[in-house]
Amino acid sequence: MIIDLRPAATAADLARIEGQLAAAGVRSARSPEQSRHILAAIDGIPDGLARALEGDAAVSRLVPCRGSWRRVDRAFMARPTSVRIGGLTIGAGAPPAVIAGPCGVEGRRMMDESARIARDAGAGMLRGGAFKPRTSPYSFQGLGAEGLRLLKAAGEAAGLPVVSEIMDASQLPHFLECGIDCLQVGARNMQNFTLLKGIASAGLPVVLKRGLSATVAEWLQSAEYLAAHGAGGVILCERGIRTFETATRNTLDLTVLPLLREWTHLPVIVDPSHAAGIASLIPALSRAAVAAGADGLAVEVHPRPREARSDGAQALLAGELARIVQEARLVACVLGG
Ligand code: PEP
Ligand code: MN
Repeated sequence: MIIDLRPAATAADLARIEGQLAAAGVRSARSPEQSRHILAAIDGIPDGLARALEGDAAVSRLVPCRGSWRRVDRAFMARPTSVRIGGLTIGAGAPPAVIAGPCGVEGRRMMDESARIARDAGAGMLRGGAFKPRTSPYSFQGLGAEGLRLLKAAGEAAGLPVVSEIMDASQLPHFLECGIDCLQVGARNMQNFTLLKGIASAGLPVVLKRGLSATVAEWLQSAEYLAAHGAGGVILCERGIRTFETATRNTLDLTVLPLLREWTHLPVIVDPSHAAGIASLIPALSRAAVAAGADGLAVEVHPRPREARSDGAQALLAGELARIVQEARLVACVLGG
């Protein structure tokens, strides 16, 4: 339950209500909302106390959460929220953010080239996997900590913040040492709760990809883990789900965009690269994602896709990325974004 206080309610009212909840054994969390006081009751509120709160002069309304998440519920904030990473703002009506870069960091030269491609195209953040989740143990596993260093150096040279996937909390010191600006939790790890708890406390923003077969409710529960354990912002990333269809790598579920707008205040981006798995499909899916309300895109680009050590078939060329960035801005403008 979310407890929305009246604009005139004071800090003393807030503390009093927190005290009433605590006395009833109900944990609560304060919303960071600035415009008014909002509290989330983590546990169920006993009927008697709920009635008392409804009649409390300081309380505007009690809003039931749509699921068992609290901090990420739409009602926990007055408006949709944004996440700032370096100079980039994702969400809350900011121009569509484009995260671009190779699937994996393969070496210094290709990473530097990729960073220039991303910057010249107008992307706002550079991506590159250093710890790669590969289905086959014999496939390229990533360059590890050295990959993070190359990614950060390339990002700095291009003036772009960087994001990279973390697969195990034991890798966190490498991410912090290298100054990685944003952590990515991959689809295969969306419900690795030990990982979510272990990395959230670093206070960095996190891109949380939707699990291969995760429901929206499961996805939001995972986002709640991050929010509850101190993540410096959570960005949801729809990256396609498993369906019966085999013509594409996954099926891009654009339905979640308007749905998540109603259920959560968090920014939502779309990764059409891992959804489609086919480079030629990505421009149309990118336009559709922005038209359906995505706050940004995450796409893979490679200076020489044929040489890519992972996901070459879905890697865009420089010119294709530039066009996607322009079209994303255009679509957002047409829709009044
Ligand atoms: C990736 O972004 O490199 C990746 C592995 O994506 P996903 O976790 O969505 O499969
Ligand atoms: Mn990839």
